[in-house]
Amino acid sequence: MTTARIREFLETRRPEGPCLVVDLDVVRDNFSAYRRAMPDTAIFYAVKANPAPQVLKLLADMGSSFDCASVQEIEMALNAGATPTRVSYGNTIKKERDVARAFALGVRLFAVDDVNEVEKVARAAPGAKVFCRILCDGAGAEWPLSRKFGCEGDMAITVLERARDLGLTPWGISFHVGSQQTNPQAWDGALQEASRIFREMSKRGVELGLVNLGGGFPARYLKNVPAAEAYAGAIYDALRRHFGNRLPETIIEPGRGMVGAAGTIKAEVVLVSRKSDTDATRWVYLDIGKFSGLAETMEEAIRYPIRTARDSDAMEPCVLAGPTCDSADVLYEKTPYPLPISLTVGDEVLIEGTGAYTTTYSAVAFNGFPPLQTYII
Ligand SMILES: *Cc1c(COP(=O)(O)O)cnc(C)c1O
Repeated sequence: MTTARIREFLETRRPEGPCLVVDLDVVRDNFSAYRRAMPDTAIFYAVKANPAPQVLKLLADMGSSFDCASVQEIEMALNAGATPTRVSYGNTIKKERDVARAFALGVRLFAVDDVNEVEKVARAAPGAKVFCRILCDGAGAEWPLSRKFGCEGDMAITVLERARDLGLTPWGISFHVGSQQTNPQAWDGALQEASRIFREMSKRGVELGLVNLGGGFPARYLKNVPAAEAYAGAIYDALRRHFGNRLPETIIEPGRGMVGAAGTIKAEVVLVSRKSDTDATRWVYLDIGKFSGLAETMEEAIRYPIRTARDSDAMEPCVLAGPTCDSADVLYEKTPYPLPISLTVGDEVLIEGTGAYTTTYSAVAFNGFPPLQTYII
């Protein structure tokens, strides 16, 4: 949904070229909705979803903490007003010198999923708290993050014991159920495994305290998604089922769910063509593509709502592509996208739900096209 404020901004300012407009009121509402739905859970906004300083400042002022993946993201969160105790270095893949820099900035909470990583953290951030990420298959997610991060539960036990032996504080378990997770029950299996690790660690004399529930909370694209309360209900039920009365401290790390719906991209039709006189399929080329912010159309995973001024006209499925000279720069072809037959060169299109994972994916100058212009209102 494009908000009235975004429409008014586009109509009065008429910005030239493709651009993203983010409505901070939506971010504020989303943060409040998570806080209301999960009052006992700390919110660590995943900075990579949209690191615009105004977004970070708003969230810092509202009391958010921040999940950061690099020293640069940590500095952005601190510049926005977060204290280092409200920052987690959540990337399991860190250079030791970056761990040292984060530690010098005051960060004391680090993610690990391997003993080599634990050793780096122990040397560069002595005494810090660590949580171990466990694998999660990402079933039910439209953008799964499955194999790259996390380890099997038994290995997590080894990793956390090693952390204890090296003088770190083994603090808990994390996982990510996959981004744009449309099934609120998806947390159950990982919470069961987390509770097993808590018990095993307890037998070894280590009382863990934290379950980091990760991100995955969806934004609305073409289909409706369950509200924050549905996720909160399913997660709290699973926590009680697996942890009984000894509920751990919990945190969530929403990225997409916090900012996705807050943004709309304005783009322009550059060309409408066919490959031959008899070709049935029209190709519609926009002035924005995979390399200027729409990278999540990779394998057509994320399907954005697209609005035009001609949406009351007859529709026809089209191949939708970006403007660069790279043949990978096609947004939707396997499943063509229905667009008005009357759509023509120079028409404006609104690509909705683009507040998350767009500016950060935008190349600095592929073919000389500038990075995605952003207006935060
Ligand atoms: C990217 C990321 C998130 C945010 O995920 P969303 O699905 O956008 O909510 C949270 N935690 C970690 C560790 C991440 O890498």
